[in-house]
Amino acid sequence: MNDCGCEKAKRALEDYLRDELGSDLRAEIERHLEGCTECSTEAHIHTVITGVVRRSCDGEAAPDELRERVRRALRATSH
Ligand SMILES: [Zn+2]
Repeated sequence: MNDCGCEKAKRALEDYLRDELGSDLRAEIERHLEGCTECSTEAHIHTVITGVVRRSCDGEAAPDELRERVRRALRATSH
């Protein structure tokens, strides 16, 4: 297990994807995502879920079930 700032990156991820981070933190997260497969996968999952949700239920939070389905689908394709 590596302690490369994953917790911080994951906490900041949603704000990052909504483009709500300050430029310093944004740069830090971008650097982390480039070097961390786990977090960049997580970011990709968030992006996909957000896209799916925007299309299907107009910005409401993704239901856990949908989130889990997308997560599994992406895991399956990335291995
Ligand atoms: Zn990470």
